Amino acid sequence: MSAVGATARARERAAPFAVERVRRDFPVLQQTVHGKPLVYLDNAATSQKPQSVIDSLARYYSEYNANIHRGIHRLSEEATRAYEHARSRVRGFINAAEDREIVFVRGTTEAINLVAHSFGRAFVKPRDEIVITAMEHHSNIVPWQLLGEQTGARLRVVPIDDEGQLMIDEIEPMLTGKTRLIAVTHVSNALGTVNPIPRITQMARRRGIPVLVDGAQAVPHMRVDVRGLDCDFYAFSGHKMFGPTGVGILYARSPWLERMPPYQGGGSMISLVTLEKTHYAPPPYKFEAGTPDIGGGIALGAAIDYLASIDFDAAAAHEQDLLSYGAERLTSIEGVRLVGRPRERAGVLSFVIDGVHPHDIGTILDREGVAIRAGHHCAMPIMQRYGVPATARASVAFYNTREDMDALVRGVLKVREVFG
Ligand code: PMP
Repeated sequence: MSAVGATARARERAAPFAVERVRRDFPVLQQTVHGKPLVYLDNAATSQKPQSVIDSLARYYSEYNANIHRGIHRLSEEATRAYEHARSRVRGFINAAEDREIVFVRGTTEAINLVAHSFGRAFVKPRDEIVITAMEHHSNIVPWQLLGEQTGARLRVVPIDDEGQLMIDEIEPMLTGKTRLIAVTHVSNALGTVNPIPRITQMARRRGIPVLVDGAQAVPHMRVDVRGLDCDFYAFSGHKMFGPTGVGILYARSPWLERMPPYQGGGSMISLVTLEKTHYAPPPYKFEAGTPDIGGGIALGAAIDYLASIDFDAAAAHEQDLLSYGAERLTSIEGVRLVGRPRERAGVLSFVIDGVHPHDIGTILDREGVAIRAGHHCAMPIMQRYGVPATARASVAFYNTREDMDALVRGVLKVREVFG
């Protein structure tokens, strides 16, 4: 969960988190794998879904499946109402000012590509600069490289220190009259680092530079307030925050959405089409060409309802406890090293074991029923920065327990045994 200070306060305030009760809401967790109770520690890749989200999807398909925004019949009206209600729920969830600032997309990747294409086409010229950081997921690197190839713009990269923190003092000197955008992750999916977004937006605001935040790994762990963060764009995926795959959100301040050209052309994003010219629908519809993932959007609203039903402060404190307990136990094992020791951490513990490839760690842990991820986590530049080919990554959600961390540690001890 979020900042250490905020988390410490949350811990003081929070009642103990009712983790056993919450676990019962997640049917996937109630199973064994290789004869062992499933210990799911791959939440940064995708989270599990509560029954209410699964029910919401099933209800849409079994009771009111219809296309939206076009139909004049009952089912279509009902589906449209539910979909637009979900948009409002998302707006409230991130404290955006207006529903029209919420664009439904496929996920974080599509949200960032939308900005790179649309904002990029309108506002980025040869020799302009986009500032990213050395801890970005590939989906916040490659779209900007593509934009650079197409426009002649250059990337500037904010370095990270040995602990896995942004070298924040390096940012200001990078910002010039040529800087068109800063694109930065809120939480690193490979290191767990929580970045100080308000400090970055403050620097940017003084120079009139917009900031895009990749929030994929933040929204499941902390309260996000896009107006408090003062960012221009905020991207996230439904499936990492207990919602379905196939749906995600681009938040953008409405002046940008007004000024940006459409990303894709097609149905639903128009107000009038002639064979000579098209007039576009107002935002957000201008950016929502074609039939969206209607059931997914509605079920994302159900995921937000679910999050509103649990004690988020207590969940935050519980996750912090899991991370510090897990970090302490893992590093007490000889040969185990954490990659990234940020001051503020959310969700993720990345580690390596001397002389053992992370894939072997993942395979042995799987035999123990423990699901983690091993690899570069779509963040190869981070692996290059720390001189490792890959890491093993255990990532928590609020439904994990200290017993899950114990199972992880037992598995790691077994890895050490197997590899001598
Ligand atoms: N950014 C970050 C920080 C991520 O962790 C991920 C998913 N691993 C993405 C972007 C991409 O998300 P998606 O695959 O849902 O588009």
